[in-house]
Amino acid sequence: MIELKRTVLVVDDQKLNREILHDILEDEYVVVCAGNGQEAMDILMEKGKKFAAVLLDILMPVMDGYEVMEKMQKTPGLSEIPILVTSQIIEKEYELKALNMGASDFVSKPFNGEILKKRLYNLIQMHESAAAVGVMERDNLTGLYSKEGFCCRMKEVLKSGQDILYDVIAVDIEHFKLFNDTYGVDEGDRLLRYVAYKIVAESERCNGICARVYADQFLIFLERQEGYAIGMVNNINRIMENYPLDMKIHVKMGVYEVHDGTVPVNSMCDRAFIAVKAAKGHYENDVAYYDDSIREKLLLEQQIGDDMVHALRNEQFNVYFQPKYDLTTGEMAGAEALVRWQHPTKGFMSPKEFIPIFEKNGFITELDMFVWNKGCNYIADWQKKYGVTVPVSVNVSRKDIYKQNLPEILKEIVEENGLKPENLHLEITESAYTENPEQLILIVEQLKKEGFIIEMDDFGSGYSSLNMLAELPIDVLKLDMKFLQNKGEQSKIENIMSSIVELAKKINLFVIAEGVEMEKQISMLKSMKCDMVQGYYYAKPMPAAQFEKMCLQ
Ligand code: C2E
Ligand code: MG
Ligand code: MG
Repeated sequence: MIELKRTVLVVDDQKLNREILHDILEDEYVVVCAGNGQEAMDILMEKGKKFAAVLLDILMPVMDGYEVMEKMQKTPGLSEIPILVTSQIIEKEYELKALNMGASDFVSKPFNGEILKKRLYNLIQMHESAAAVGVMERDNLTGLYSKEGFCCRMKEVLKSGQDILYDVIAVDIEHFKLFNDTYGVDEGDRLLRYVAYKIVAESERCNGICARVYADQFLIFLERQEGYAIGMVNNINRIMENYPLDMKIHVKMGVYEVHDGTVPVNSMCDRAFIAVKAAKGHYENDVAYYDDSIREKLLLEQQIGDDMVHALRNEQFNVYFQPKYDLTTGEMAGAEALVRWQHPTKGFMSPKEFIPIFEKNGFITELDMFVWNKGCNYIADWQKKYGVTVPVSVNVSRKDIYKQNLPEILKEIVEENGLKPENLHLEITESAYTENPEQLILIVEQLKKEGFIIEMDDFGSGYSSLNMLAELPIDVLKLDMKFLQNKGEQSKIENIMSSIVELAKKINLFVIAEGVEMEKQISMLKSMKCDMVQGYYYAKPMPAAQFEKMCLQ
C-alpha cells in the first residue's frame, strides 16, 4: 500500500504531551511516538529516511533532546531531517544551544494546534523543495531559490499573464556583517537560515517565491496586498526580538511594485535592492518603496563617489573664507573656511550636496584634512604678507571625531605651517555629542590640551543638551542661524537667544551669531552682548584672493 501522508516522529517523555501532539497532527500526518531520546534514536536508526520531521522535547530521562540532536547531526541520512523543538524551556541560552545543535525552529508548550501545524508544514516544505530541486536553482545554505532559480520562476509567473498585481521585495538584515564578525560564520549561517525560514512563513499567504541572492540579501516575489509590506517586516522583526543572542537583529525591506511586465526581471530585482538601500540606516523606516527620486539620488551618490578622489587630486575643491566681525569694535576678527566643489559637469556645488555623501562613504576626513591644510597655508601666507594673524576656523565633521589620531594630525598640520594651535579654531557640531558623547569628550579634551580653540557649531539646531555644555571644555558657542531665520513670534525668539547668550557668558563662553543678514539683527545682538557675528549682511563666503582684498589690504 502506498502511504500518502508524511510521517513525523514525536519524542516526549510525558504521555499527555505525546497524546496532545498526536491529536493535533493525526489528520495530516502519520504520527510515530517515542518516550525518550534513546527510543527515538532506535526508531530513527531503523527507518530514519521515512521521517519528514522530528518534534523533539528537550528535558527527558535516559537521553535528552540535546543528545538526540547531536547524534542525528553525526549520522548520515538523519542530519538532514528538520527538527522542531517542543519545549517548556524558553530561556535564550537553551534556545541558542538547540539552534547550535541543528534545531530548525521552536514551539513552546502549551501548544497552539494551528501554529504548530503551520510551522511544521513550512519546515517540511522548505526542506523538501530544497532536496527536490537541482542545486543550481537553490541556495545550499537556506534551501531557498538562488537568484537564477528565482528569476526563472518570476518569469514563468509573469508570463502566465494572470490579472494579479505583483511586487518584488528585497530583504536585508541590518549590521549582518557585524553580527558575523562578532559571533562567527557558523552563527551567521544559522541566523540566515532562521531569517530565510521566517521570510517564507511571512510571504506564504501572498504565494511568495523566496530567494537568497548573496550573504544577507533575500528576495521575495509575491502577490501584492494593500499595505502588507509593513506588516510583514514588523512581524519578522517582532519574532527576531526573541532571537537567542544579545545583538539586536532587525530586517529592512525595499519594495518594487511591478507595473510594467516588460521590464527585465533582473532590473526589477535591482530596483528592490535600491529601495532597501534607502531604508537602511533610517531608524524610522523599515520599508522603502522604489521610485524615480530614489533612483536619481542613488545615481548622484554613486557619481559623486566615483568622481571625488580624482577631484581632490585635480584641485576641483576650493576653500572659501567668510569673515567674522567683532560686535564691539566692528572689526574683522577671523574667518571660517568653507569648502566648494567646481565640478566639471555639474558646475559649482554647495557642501550641503556633497558633505553628507562624503560622511557616508568616509571620504570626509580626507577632504577635511585638505581644508585644514589650506586654511593653515593661508594664515601663514597672510602673516607673511600683512603681518597679521587671522584666526581661521575649520569644520571638523562628526565622522572625523572617531579618528583616534585626530589631535596628532591637526598638530602636525599646524606645525608644518609654522603656526600655533590657537591660530586654528575647530568647529564641531553638537550632533557629534548625541552620537557618541564619551568619544567626543575625550577628543575635545585632548585637542584643548594641545591648545586648539574649540567652537560648538550650529548650537541650538539639534538635540542640544545643557549638560553637554558642562561636560565639553569648549571655548566658543556658535548660535545656529535658524534662530535669526525663525519667522515665529520675534519677542519670544529674542528672549530665548538672550537667555542662551547670558548662560554662555556665565560659563565663560564666547558667543558668535551665524546667519546675520539684516541691520536690525545687529543692534539686537549688540544689546544681548553677543561677541561676534558672521553673515551675508557683512559678506558671503569668498575665494581667498577676494577675502584678502576686502579684509587685509
Ligand atoms: P556651517 O559650518 O554652519 O557654515 C555656515 C554656513 O552658513 C555656510 O554654508 C555659509 O555659507 C552659510 N551662511 C553664512 N552666513 C549666512 C547668512 O547670512 N545667511 C545664510 N542663509 N547662510 C549663511 P555652506 O558654505 O553652504 O556650508 C554648509 C555647511 O556645510 C557648513 O555649515 C558645514 O557644516 C558644512 N561644511 C562646509 N565646508 C565644510 C568642510 O570643509 N568640512 C566639513 N566637514 N563641513 C563643511
Ligand atoms: Mg561651521
Ligand atoms: Mg554653523
